Amino acid sequence: MPLIPSLHAAIANATIWDAAELASRDPGFDARNFGASALVRPRDVEGVLALVRFCAANGLSIVPQGGRTGLAGGAATAAGQVICDLGAMNRIEEIDPFARTAIVQAGAQLAALQEATAVHGLDPGIDLAARGSATIGGMVSTNAGGIMAFRNGTMRHRVLGLEAVLPDGRVFSDLTSVLKTSAGYDLKHLFIGAEGTLGIVTRVALRLDPVAGASATALVGVPNAASAQRIVRHFLGSTGARLTAAEILWRNFTALMQRALNYAPGQLPLDAPCLLVLGLGADSMEAARNALEDGLAAVWEEAGIIDGLVASSEAQAAAMWRLREETEQIEHAHHLPPSFDVSVPGGALDDYVSRIEAGLKRVDASYAPYVFGHLADGNLHISINTDGPLSHERHEAIEDVLYDGLARAGGSFSAEHGVGLEKRDAYERHADPVKRELASMIKRMIDPANMMNPGKVVSAE
Ligand SMILES: Cc1cc2nc3c(=O)[nH]c(=O)nc-3n(C[C@H](O)[C@H](O)[C@H](O)COP(=O)(O)OP(=O)(O)OC[C@H]3O[C@@H](n4cnc5c(N)ncnc54)[C@H](O)[C@@H]3O)c2cc1C
Repeated sequence: MPLIPSLHAAIANATIWDAAELASRDPGFDARNFGASALVRPRDVEGVLALVRFCAANGLSIVPQGGRTGLAGGAATAAGQVICDLGAMNRIEEIDPFARTAIVQAGAQLAALQEATAVHGLDPGIDLAARGSATIGGMVSTNAGGIMAFRNGTMRHRVLGLEAVLPDGRVFSDLTSVLKTSAGYDLKHLFIGAEGTLGIVTRVALRLDPVAGASATALVGVPNAASAQRIVRHFLGSTGARLTAAEILWRNFTALMQRALNYAPGQLPLDAPCLLVLGLGADSMEAARNALEDGLAAVWEEAGIIDGLVASSEAQAAAMWRLREETEQIEHAHHLPPSFDVSVPGGALDDYVSRIEAGLKRVDASYAPYVFGHLADGNLHISINTDGPLSHERHEAIEDVLYDGLARAGGSFSAEHGVGLEKRDAYERHADPVKRELASMIKRMIDPANMMNPGKVVSAE
Protein backbone atom coordinates (compact mmCIF):
# COMPACT_ATOMS: atom_id res chain seq x y z
CA MET A 1 0.00 0.00 0.00
CA PRO A 2 1.31 3.53 -0.66
CA LEU A 3 2.73 5.41 2.33
CA ILE A 4 -0.09 7.81 3.24
CA PRO A 5 -2.97 5.27 3.24
CA SER A 6 -0.73 2.85 5.17
CA LEU A 7 -0.02 5.52 7.79
CA HIS A 8 -3.74 6.23 8.09
CA ALA A 9 -4.42 2.52 8.51
CA ALA A 10 -1.70 2.08 11.14
CA ILE A 11 -2.23 5.21 13.26
CA ALA A 12 -5.59 6.23 14.60
CA ASN A 13 -6.06 9.62 16.16
CA ALA A 14 -3.46 11.56 14.18
CA THR A 15 -3.34 14.26 11.52
CA ILE A 16 -1.34 13.15 8.48
CA TRP A 17 0.00 15.29 5.62
CA ASP A 18 1.64 14.10 2.43
CA ALA A 19 4.62 15.72 0.67
CA ALA A 20 2.39 17.99 -1.44
CA GLU A 21 0.67 19.32 1.66
CA LEU A 22 4.05 19.85 3.32
CA ALA A 23 5.32 21.78 0.30
CA SER A 24 2.45 24.25 0.66
CA ARG A 25 3.07 24.90 4.38
CA ASP A 26 5.48 27.07 6.38
CA PRO A 27 8.47 24.87 7.31
CA GLY A 28 9.50 27.10 10.22
CA PHE A 29 12.97 28.47 10.70
CA ASP A 30 14.71 26.03 8.34
CA ALA A 31 13.50 25.54 4.77
CA ARG A 32 14.73 21.93 4.90
CA ASN A 33 12.28 20.96 7.67
CA PHE A 34 9.56 19.90 5.26
CA GLY A 35 11.53 17.72 2.81
CA ALA A 36 9.96 14.51 4.22
CA SER A 37 7.44 12.25 2.49
CA ALA A 38 4.90 12.57 5.30
CA LEU A 39 4.12 14.37 8.52
CA VAL A 40 2.23 12.60 11.29
CA ARG A 41 0.84 14.60 14.21
CA PRO A 42 -0.28 12.09 16.86
CA ARG A 43 -2.67 13.22 19.57
CA ASP A 44 -1.32 10.94 22.29
CA VAL A 45 1.53 8.63 23.25
CA GLU A 46 -0.35 5.69 21.74
CA GLY A 47 -0.24 7.50 18.39
CA VAL A 48 3.53 8.11 18.73
CA LEU A 49 4.01 4.41 19.58
CA ALA A 50 1.96 3.34 16.56
CA LEU A 51 4.03 5.60 14.32
CA VAL A 52 7.33 4.27 15.70
CA ARG A 53 6.20 0.66 15.26
CA PHE A 54 5.00 1.37 11.72
CA CYS A 55 8.30 3.01 10.76
CA ALA A 56 10.32 0.20 12.36
CA ALA A 57 8.35 -2.42 10.45
CA ASN A 58 8.74 -0.55 7.18
CA GLY A 59 12.38 0.55 7.44
CA LEU A 60 11.49 4.25 7.58
CA SER A 61 13.30 6.86 9.63
CA ILE A 62 11.58 9.43 11.86
CA VAL A 63 12.43 13.06 12.57
CA PRO A 64 10.68 14.52 15.63
CA GLN A 65 9.64 18.15 15.31
CA GLY A 66 8.30 20.66 17.82
CA GLY A 67 8.15 24.37 17.00
CA ARG A 68 10.66 24.13 14.10
CA THR A 69 12.69 27.05 15.52
CA GLY A 70 15.90 25.04 15.85
CA LEU A 71 19.00 26.73 14.42
CA ALA A 72 21.29 23.74 13.83
CA GLY A 73 19.33 21.82 11.17
CA GLY A 74 18.32 19.12 13.66
CA ALA A 75 14.75 19.01 12.32
CA ALA A 76 15.73 18.97 8.63
CA THR A 77 14.16 16.11 6.66
CA ALA A 78 14.54 14.38 3.29
CA ALA A 79 12.29 12.36 1.00
CA GLY A 80 11.56 8.93 2.43
CA GLN A 81 11.51 10.19 6.01
CA VAL A 82 8.48 10.69 8.24
CA ILE A 83 8.09 13.66 10.57
CA CYS A 84 6.64 13.04 14.03
CA ASP A 85 5.09 16.44 14.82
CA LEU A 86 4.39 16.89 18.54
CA GLY A 87 2.17 19.95 18.01
CA ALA A 88 -1.08 18.27 19.05
CA MET A 89 0.42 16.94 22.30
CA ASN A 90 0.55 20.36 23.88
CA ARG A 91 -1.32 20.03 27.17
CA ILE A 92 0.00 21.47 30.39
CA GLU A 93 -1.13 18.53 32.45
CA GLU A 94 -0.30 19.68 35.95
CA ILE A 95 1.08 22.66 37.81
CA ASP A 96 1.85 22.13 41.49
CA PRO A 97 2.29 25.60 43.01
CA PHE A 98 3.55 24.22 46.32
CA ALA A 99 6.10 21.79 44.95
CA ARG A 100 6.84 24.33 42.17
CA THR A 101 6.70 21.73 39.43
CA ALA A 102 4.83 21.26 36.17
CA ILE A 103 4.15 18.23 34.00
CA VAL A 104 3.67 19.13 30.36
CA GLN A 105 3.31 17.33 27.07
CA ALA A 106 6.29 17.78 24.77
CA GLY A 107 4.45 19.91 22.21
CA ALA A 108 3.51 22.65 24.71
CA GLN A 109 4.97 25.97 23.68
CA LEU A 110 7.22 27.82 26.09
CA ALA A 111 5.03 30.96 26.01
CA ALA A 112 1.95 28.90 26.92
CA LEU A 113 3.77 27.41 29.90
CA GLN A 114 5.04 30.84 30.96
CA GLU A 115 1.47 32.15 30.85
CA ALA A 116 0.01 29.20 32.76
CA THR A 117 2.65 29.31 35.49
CA ALA A 118 2.49 33.12 35.87
CA VAL A 119 -1.04 32.70 37.26
CA HIS A 120 0.61 30.98 40.26
CA GLY A 121 3.41 33.56 40.54
CA LEU A 122 5.81 31.01 39.02
CA ASP A 123 7.95 30.72 35.90
CA PRO A 124 9.75 27.89 34.03
CA GLY A 125 13.00 29.77 34.70
CA ILE A 126 14.10 29.66 31.08
CA ASP A 127 13.34 32.12 28.32
CA LEU A 128 14.26 32.69 24.69
CA ALA A 129 13.13 34.92 21.85
CA ALA A 130 11.40 32.05 20.02
CA ARG A 131 9.13 31.52 23.07
CA GLY A 132 5.93 31.79 20.98
CA SER A 133 6.83 28.73 18.84
CA ALA A 134 9.56 26.71 20.56
CA THR A 135 8.19 23.67 22.41
CA ILE A 136 9.27 22.11 25.68
CA GLY A 137 10.14 18.87 23.85
CA GLY A 138 12.32 20.75 21.35
CA MET A 139 13.95 22.72 24.13
CA VAL A 140 14.72 19.54 26.06
CA SER A 141 16.08 17.94 22.91
CA THR A 142 18.44 20.84 22.15
CA ASN A 143 19.22 21.55 25.81
CA ALA A 144 18.13 25.13 25.18
CA GLY A 145 19.73 27.89 27.21
CA GLY A 146 18.55 31.41 26.53
CA ILE A 147 18.36 34.61 28.49
CA MET A 148 18.19 33.30 32.07
CA ALA A 149 20.62 30.39 31.87
CA PHE A 150 23.28 32.33 33.77
CA ARG A 151 20.92 32.33 36.75
CA ASN A 152 18.81 29.18 36.42
CA GLY A 153 20.88 26.86 34.23
CA THR A 154 19.95 25.41 30.86
CA MET A 155 17.02 23.11 30.08
CA ARG A 156 19.03 20.22 31.54
CA HIS A 157 18.86 21.94 34.92
CA ARG A 158 15.12 22.57 34.66
CA VAL A 159 14.07 18.99 33.84
CA LEU A 160 13.16 16.75 36.77
CA GLY A 161 11.93 13.81 34.74
CA LEU A 162 10.74 12.83 31.30
CA GLU A 163 8.96 10.25 29.21
CA ALA A 164 10.22 9.19 25.78
CA VAL A 165 9.17 6.68 23.15
CA LEU A 166 12.15 4.53 22.15
CA PRO A 167 12.87 3.25 18.63
CA ASP A 168 12.04 -0.31 19.71
CA GLY A 169 8.51 0.72 20.70
CA ARG A 170 9.04 0.79 24.46
CA VAL A 171 8.32 3.81 26.62
CA PHE A 172 11.07 5.16 28.88
CA SER A 173 9.03 6.55 31.73
CA ASP A 174 10.79 8.58 34.40
CA LEU A 175 8.40 11.36 35.36
CA THR A 176 10.19 11.91 38.65
CA SER A 177 9.11 15.31 39.89
CA VAL A 178 11.38 15.77 42.87
CA LEU A 179 14.73 17.52 42.77
CA LYS A 180 16.64 14.87 44.63
CA THR A 181 17.01 11.41 43.23
CA SER A 182 20.19 9.46 43.46
CA ALA A 183 18.77 6.16 42.28
CA GLY A 184 21.42 4.92 39.87
CA TYR A 185 22.23 6.20 36.37
CA ASP A 186 20.11 9.26 35.64
CA LEU A 187 19.18 8.23 32.12
CA LYS A 188 16.85 11.13 31.38
CA HIS A 189 20.00 13.13 30.64
CA LEU A 190 20.65 10.94 27.58
CA PHE A 191 17.56 12.40 25.93
CA ILE A 192 18.36 16.00 26.89
CA GLY A 193 20.39 17.45 24.04
CA ALA A 194 20.03 14.28 21.92
CA GLU A 195 18.09 16.22 19.25
CA GLY A 196 15.68 13.35 18.66
CA THR A 197 18.40 10.79 17.85
CA LEU A 198 17.55 8.41 20.71
CA GLY A 199 13.77 8.67 21.00
CA ILE A 200 10.78 10.96 20.98
CA VAL A 201 10.25 12.97 24.15
CA THR A 202 6.53 12.96 24.94
CA ARG A 203 6.17 14.41 28.47
CA VAL A 204 8.39 16.40 30.76
CA ALA A 205 8.40 17.23 34.48
CA LEU A 206 9.92 20.64 35.06
CA ARG A 207 10.90 22.72 38.04
CA LEU A 208 9.43 26.19 38.38
CA ASP A 209 10.72 29.31 40.12
CA PRO A 210 8.93 32.20 41.80
CA VAL A 211 8.61 35.11 39.42
CA ALA A 212 9.34 38.74 40.38
CA GLY A 213 6.31 41.03 40.66
CA ALA A 214 7.66 43.39 37.99
CA SER A 215 10.66 43.73 35.79
CA ALA A 216 12.45 46.80 34.43
CA THR A 217 14.78 47.12 31.45
CA ALA A 218 17.81 49.31 30.77
CA LEU A 219 20.00 49.86 27.74
CA VAL A 220 23.57 50.77 28.59
CA GLY A 221 26.38 51.84 26.25
CA VAL A 222 29.82 50.58 27.32
CA PRO A 223 33.32 50.60 25.82
CA ASN A 224 33.75 46.81 25.95
CA ALA A 225 32.53 43.53 27.40
CA ALA A 226 34.75 43.87 30.48
CA SER A 227 32.85 47.02 31.39
CA ALA A 228 29.51 45.23 30.86
CA GLN A 229 30.74 42.37 33.05
CA ARG A 230 31.63 44.84 35.80
CA ILE A 231 28.03 46.11 35.74
CA VAL A 232 26.61 42.60 35.79
CA ARG A 233 28.79 41.65 38.77
CA HIS A 234 27.40 44.61 40.65
CA PHE A 235 23.78 43.58 40.05
CA LEU A 236 24.47 39.92 40.77
CA GLY A 237 25.83 40.97 44.16
CA SER A 238 22.87 43.19 45.00
CA THR A 239 20.27 41.79 47.37
CA GLY A 240 17.27 44.06 46.75
CA ALA A 241 16.51 43.11 43.14
CA ARG A 242 17.13 40.15 40.88
CA LEU A 243 19.07 40.33 37.61
CA THR A 244 17.00 38.45 35.00
CA ALA A 245 18.81 39.34 31.77
CA ALA A 246 22.21 40.62 30.64
CA GLU A 247 22.48 40.58 26.88
CA ILE A 248 25.38 42.13 24.99
CA LEU A 249 25.41 43.52 21.43
CA TRP A 250 28.55 44.57 19.57
CA ARG A 251 28.48 47.64 17.33
CA ASN A 252 28.15 45.93 13.91
CA PHE A 253 25.08 44.08 15.12
CA THR A 254 23.56 47.17 16.75
CA ALA A 255 24.09 49.20 13.56
CA LEU A 256 22.35 46.54 11.46
CA MET A 257 19.43 46.35 13.88
CA GLN A 258 19.11 50.13 14.17
CA ARG A 259 18.89 50.42 10.36
CA ALA A 260 16.52 47.46 10.01
CA LEU A 261 14.19 48.64 12.77
CA ASN A 262 14.32 52.28 11.60
CA TYR A 263 15.36 53.59 15.00
CA ALA A 264 16.09 57.31 14.76
CA PRO A 265 19.52 58.43 15.99
CA GLY A 266 19.07 59.54 19.57
CA GLN A 267 15.92 57.46 20.10
CA LEU A 268 17.93 55.16 22.36
CA PRO A 269 21.52 55.35 23.61
CA LEU A 270 22.98 53.33 20.74
CA ASP A 271 26.30 54.92 19.98
CA ALA A 272 28.81 52.78 21.86
CA PRO A 273 31.17 49.91 20.99
CA CYS A 274 28.95 47.56 23.02
CA LEU A 275 25.39 47.75 24.31
CA LEU A 276 24.11 45.94 27.34
CA VAL A 277 20.41 45.10 27.72
CA LEU A 278 19.70 44.58 31.40
CA GLY A 279 16.57 43.12 32.96
CA LEU A 280 15.94 43.45 36.69
CA GLY A 281 13.07 41.94 38.64
CA ALA A 282 11.67 43.33 41.90
CA ASP A 283 8.40 43.48 43.84
CA SER A 284 7.10 46.50 41.92
CA MET A 285 7.98 48.37 38.74
CA GLU A 286 9.05 51.38 40.76
CA ALA A 287 11.40 49.26 42.87
CA ALA A 288 12.86 47.58 39.78
CA ARG A 289 13.44 50.89 37.97
CA ASN A 290 14.93 52.49 41.08
CA ALA A 291 17.24 49.52 41.60
CA LEU A 292 18.43 49.76 37.99
CA GLU A 293 19.03 53.51 38.24
CA ASP A 294 20.81 53.28 41.59
CA GLY A 295 22.91 50.32 40.48
CA LEU A 296 24.01 51.98 37.27
CA ALA A 297 24.84 55.21 39.12
CA ALA A 298 26.93 53.25 41.63
CA VAL A 299 29.16 51.67 38.96
CA TRP A 300 28.95 54.39 36.30
CA GLU A 301 32.48 55.72 36.63
CA GLU A 302 34.22 52.53 37.63
CA ALA A 303 32.70 50.61 34.70
CA GLY A 304 33.30 53.51 32.28
CA ILE A 305 29.65 53.65 31.20
CA ILE A 306 29.24 55.83 28.11
CA ASP A 307 25.49 56.27 28.15
CA GLY A 308 22.46 54.53 29.64
CA LEU A 309 18.72 54.69 29.88
CA VAL A 310 16.23 52.90 32.14
CA ALA A 311 13.02 52.29 30.16
CA SER A 312 10.23 54.48 31.48
CA SER A 313 7.43 52.62 29.71
CA GLU A 314 6.59 49.13 28.45
CA ALA A 315 6.91 50.45 24.88
CA GLN A 316 10.43 51.74 25.50
CA ALA A 317 11.43 48.44 27.12
CA ALA A 318 9.99 46.57 24.11
CA ALA A 319 12.01 48.79 21.73
CA MET A 320 15.16 47.89 23.66
CA TRP A 321 14.38 44.19 23.52
CA ARG A 322 13.58 44.30 19.79
CA LEU A 323 17.18 45.38 19.23
CA ARG A 324 18.36 42.16 20.80
CA GLU A 325 15.63 39.71 19.83
CA GLU A 326 14.69 40.44 16.20
CA THR A 327 17.69 38.54 14.98
CA GLU A 328 15.87 37.48 11.81
CA GLN A 329 16.97 40.92 10.53
CA ILE A 330 20.35 39.27 9.85
CA GLU A 331 18.60 36.78 7.54
CA HIS A 332 16.82 39.69 5.83
CA ALA A 333 20.16 41.41 5.18
CA HIS A 334 22.02 38.30 3.99
CA HIS A 335 20.89 35.07 2.34
CA LEU A 336 21.62 32.10 4.65
CA PRO A 337 24.37 33.92 6.56
CA PRO A 338 26.79 31.45 8.20
CA SER A 339 25.98 31.56 11.91
CA PHE A 340 27.71 30.20 14.97
CA ASP A 341 27.01 29.82 18.67
CA VAL A 342 29.97 29.51 21.03
CA SER A 343 30.58 29.52 24.78
CA VAL A 344 33.66 31.48 25.74
CA PRO A 345 35.11 30.57 29.15
CA GLY A 346 36.45 32.72 31.91
CA GLY A 347 34.88 35.97 30.82
CA ALA A 348 37.55 36.51 28.15
CA LEU A 349 35.02 37.98 25.73
CA ASP A 350 36.94 41.08 24.59
CA ASP A 351 40.04 39.05 23.73
CA TYR A 352 37.95 36.46 21.94
CA VAL A 353 36.01 38.99 19.85
CA SER A 354 39.18 40.91 18.89
CA ARG A 355 40.88 37.65 17.97
CA ILE A 356 38.06 36.37 15.77
CA GLU A 357 37.53 39.75 14.08
CA ALA A 358 41.19 39.76 13.06
CA GLY A 359 41.14 36.07 12.12
CA LEU A 360 38.02 36.44 9.97
CA LYS A 361 39.61 39.39 8.13
CA ARG A 362 42.49 37.07 7.26
CA VAL A 363 39.99 34.59 5.77
CA ASP A 364 38.25 37.38 3.81
CA ALA A 365 39.00 41.09 4.17
CA SER A 366 35.28 41.93 3.82
CA TYR A 367 34.20 39.88 6.85
CA ALA A 368 32.94 41.93 9.81
CA PRO A 369 30.86 39.62 12.03
CA TYR A 370 27.65 40.48 13.84
CA VAL A 371 28.28 39.47 17.46
CA PHE A 372 25.70 39.44 20.25
CA GLY A 373 24.65 37.09 23.01
CA HIS A 374 24.17 36.13 26.60
CA LEU A 375 26.90 38.07 28.40
CA ALA A 376 26.65 36.56 31.85
CA ASP A 377 27.33 32.98 30.73
CA GLY A 378 29.79 33.82 27.94
CA ASN A 379 27.51 32.55 25.14
CA LEU A 380 28.10 34.53 21.92
CA HIS A 381 26.14 34.28 18.68
CA ILE A 382 28.21 35.16 15.64
CA SER A 383 26.87 35.66 12.10
CA ILE A 384 29.13 36.46 9.18
CA ASN A 385 28.08 39.40 6.99
CA THR A 386 27.92 37.36 3.83
CA ASP A 387 25.51 35.19 1.87
CA GLY A 388 25.64 31.41 2.33
CA PRO A 389 26.01 28.59 1.90
CA LEU A 390 29.78 28.83 1.72
CA SER A 391 32.11 26.25 0.21
CA HIS A 392 33.17 23.49 2.60
CA GLU A 393 36.74 24.83 2.71
CA ARG A 394 35.62 28.39 3.48
CA HIS A 395 33.25 27.18 6.21
CA GLU A 396 36.06 25.16 7.79
CA ALA A 397 38.42 28.13 7.65
CA ILE A 398 35.85 30.23 9.55
CA GLU A 399 35.25 27.45 12.07
CA ASP A 400 38.99 27.19 12.69
CA VAL A 401 39.07 30.89 13.57
CA LEU A 402 36.05 30.62 15.87
CA TYR A 403 36.66 27.25 17.51
CA ASP A 404 40.43 26.77 17.79
CA GLY A 405 41.47 26.62 21.42
CA LEU A 406 37.90 26.94 22.73
CA ALA A 407 37.52 23.38 24.03
CA ARG A 408 41.04 23.39 25.51
CA ALA A 409 40.18 26.55 27.41
CA GLY A 410 36.93 25.01 28.71
CA GLY A 411 34.48 26.54 26.20
CA SER A 412 32.21 24.98 23.63
CA PHE A 413 31.72 25.15 19.83
CA SER A 414 27.99 24.70 20.38
CA ALA A 415 26.64 26.59 23.36
CA GLU A 416 22.87 26.16 23.09
CA HIS A 417 21.68 25.44 19.54
CA GLY A 418 22.85 21.84 19.32
CA VAL A 419 24.80 20.00 16.64
CA GLY A 420 22.05 18.91 14.24
CA LEU A 421 23.39 18.87 10.70
CA GLU A 422 25.13 22.23 10.78
CA LYS A 423 27.78 21.30 13.31
CA ARG A 424 28.32 17.65 12.38
CA ASP A 425 31.75 18.42 10.89
CA ALA A 426 32.69 20.62 13.82
CA TYR A 427 31.62 17.81 16.18
CA GLU A 428 33.93 15.36 14.38
CA ARG A 429 36.83 17.83 14.44
CA HIS A 430 36.40 19.49 17.82
CA ALA A 431 34.61 17.09 20.21
CA ASP A 432 36.70 14.75 22.37
CA PRO A 433 37.28 11.46 20.50
CA VAL A 434 36.39 9.27 23.49
CA LYS A 435 33.17 11.20 23.98
CA ARG A 436 32.33 10.68 20.30
CA GLU A 437 33.05 6.95 20.52
CA LEU A 438 30.86 6.52 23.64
CA ALA A 439 28.09 8.59 22.07
CA SER A 440 28.11 6.37 18.96
CA MET A 441 28.00 3.26 21.16
CA ILE A 442 24.95 4.61 22.99
CA LYS A 443 23.29 5.53 19.69
CA ARG A 444 23.87 2.00 18.31
CA MET A 445 22.62 0.38 21.51
CA ILE A 446 19.35 2.33 21.76
CA ASP A 447 18.74 2.70 18.02
CA PRO A 448 20.50 -0.18 16.24
CA ALA A 449 18.54 0.37 13.02
CA ASN A 450 19.46 4.09 13.03
CA MET A 451 15.84 5.11 12.53
CA MET A 452 15.68 8.09 14.91
CA ASN A 453 16.78 11.28 13.19
CA PRO A 454 19.69 9.62 11.34
CA GLY A 455 22.69 11.69 10.30
CA LYS A 456 22.19 14.25 13.06
CA VAL A 457 24.53 14.95 15.98
CA VAL A 458 26.32 11.64 16.22
CA SER A 459 27.75 8.99 13.92
CA ALA A 460 25.90 5.67 14.11
CA GLU A 461 28.96 3.87 12.70
C1 LIG B 1 14.47 33.99 17.07
C2 LIG B 1 15.10 32.78 17.72
C3 LIG B 1 15.74 32.93 18.95
C4 LIG B 1 16.29 31.83 19.58
N1 LIG B 1 16.91 32.00 20.78
C5 LIG B 1 17.42 30.94 21.42
C6 LIG B 1 18.06 31.09 22.70
O1 LIG B 1 18.18 32.18 23.24
N2 LIG B 1 18.53 29.97 23.31
C7 LIG B 1 18.43 28.73 22.73
O2 LIG B 1 18.86 27.76 23.33
N3 LIG B 1 17.86 28.57 21.50
C8 LIG B 1 17.36 29.63 20.85
N4 LIG B 1 16.79 29.47 19.63
C9 LIG B 1 16.78 28.14 19.00
C10 LIG B 1 15.50 27.32 19.23
O3 LIG B 1 14.42 28.12 19.63
C11 LIG B 1 15.77 26.24 20.26
O4 LIG B 1 16.74 25.35 19.75
C12 LIG B 1 14.53 25.43 20.68
O5 LIG B 1 14.91 24.62 21.76
C13 LIG B 1 13.96 24.56 19.57
O6 LIG B 1 12.66 24.12 19.96
P1 LIG B 1 11.61 23.63 18.86
O7 LIG B 1 10.41 23.15 19.56
O8 LIG B 1 11.41 24.70 17.86
O9 LIG B 1 12.39 22.41 18.22
P2 LIG B 1 12.55 21.96 16.68
O10 LIG B 1 13.22 23.07 15.92
O11 LIG B 1 11.25 21.50 16.18
O12 LIG B 1 13.53 20.76 16.85
C14 LIG B 1 14.85 20.96 17.32
C15 LIG B 1 15.52 19.60 17.51
O13 LIG B 1 14.87 18.88 18.55
C16 LIG B 1 14.30 17.65 18.05
N5 LIG B 1 13.00 17.51 18.70
C17 LIG B 1 11.98 18.41 18.70
N6 LIG B 1 10.97 17.95 19.48
C18 LIG B 1 11.36 16.74 19.95
C19 LIG B 1 10.77 15.77 20.79
N7 LIG B 1 9.57 15.95 21.33
N8 LIG B 1 11.45 14.63 21.05
C20 LIG B 1 12.69 14.42 20.52
N9 LIG B 1 13.29 15.31 19.73
C21 LIG B 1 12.65 16.46 19.45
C22 LIG B 1 14.25 17.81 16.55
O14 LIG B 1 14.34 16.58 15.89
C23 LIG B 1 15.46 18.70 16.30
O15 LIG B 1 16.61 17.91 16.27
C24 LIG B 1 16.23 30.56 18.96
C25 LIG B 1 15.58 30.41 17.73
C26 LIG B 1 15.02 31.50 17.11
C27 LIG B 1 14.33 31.32 15.79
